[in-house]
Amino acid sequence: MIVAMQDSASEEQIQNVVEHLVRMGFSVHRTTGERQTVLAAVGARIDFDTRNLEVLSGVEHVHRISAPYKLAGRSFRPDGTIIEFANGLKIGGEEVVVMAGPCSVESRDQLFNVSEKIAKAGARVLRGGAFKPRSSPYSFQGMGVEGLKLLREAGDKFNMLVISEVMEISQIDMMLPYVDLFQVGARNMQNFNLLRELGKMKKPVLLKRGIAATLEELLLSAEYIMAGGNYQVILCERGIRTFETYTRNTLDISAIPIIHKLSHLPMTSDPSHGTGLRDKVPPMARASVAAGADALLIEVHHDPDKALSDGAQSLYPQQFSQLMDELRMIAPAVGRKIA
Ligand code: PEP
Ligand code: MN
Repeated sequence: MIVAMQDSASEEQIQNVVEHLVRMGFSVHRTTGERQTVLAAVGARIDFDTRNLEVLSGVEHVHRISAPYKLAGRSFRPDGTIIEFANGLKIGGEEVVVMAGPCSVESRDQLFNVSEKIAKAGARVLRGGAFKPRSSPYSFQGMGVEGLKLLREAGDKFNMLVISEVMEISQIDMMLPYVDLFQVGARNMQNFNLLRELGKMKKPVLLKRGIAATLEELLLSAEYIMAGGNYQVILCERGIRTFETYTRNTLDISAIPIIHKLSHLPMTSDPSHGTGLRDKVPPMARASVAAGADALLIEVHHDPDKALSDGAQSLYPQQFSQLMDELRMIAPAVGRKIA
């Protein structure tokens, strides 16, 4: 671990940090430069919390060399990763990409109806589940490959890329001709066999945070995909389980700037699953863009009251269109544009 002291750090502050490190069991090697002092601490436990040092006065930066993830870590690509698609769309650059669509593909009429409306409002990626991970085995389980075909058709017709969830290894090949991105759902974030297989693919993977996963665990899951050679990973905050019951999940917006600090991978926010309540989705989408999200994933249904899944958190097309107008105003305030 490297502890870089501020230029202005006093000798007393430096000594204080050295003593802290020694007390924690590190052996410390000090380099005193002309301007800055750097402390190399050897012997870190893998679960050491670097924040304990970051808060000490006089410390500028703590760099944990022994981070359990390497490829997903910011230092692997300090300038960030931009994922570029064949149609020129980029995720991770200046432009914020909005992915939208129904929770599940239910029928041709449903999908084409909502696709036309969200494309008109500015969505660049069409979402829709063909294989659905439902909490109850008695709930609608998705249309399967028929749903994938409809997604591709609607995506091509309305000029949007297509993202859909892959739940198991056997679905990967089946999905390849139809999707531009694979979505790995919260429930599968630690399905390491699935992650390894996706690591062999050449398609981008949007990896959602598990409902009780730490950000380090999310990054370690990304590492599984990247270790196989697929560096096209996009992370997604979709709400975590907390003691709050008002919302379905608690959307951890702080995950956005934290991931941007820890990792070079683009970061998405899903305010639909993050709140579970339609009226909470626009404010949290706006907050996500303000917090620096590279993309949004939003559920929209042409008739949410009749949706076969997640109707309560699906926006009406008109609400989505208004949200897009608002996002176009917010993005420039934080140096971005809506793609
Ligand atoms: C979804 O996107 O419809 C979905 C099931 O998401 P999650 O895995 O975040 O629950
Ligand atoms: Mn859903």
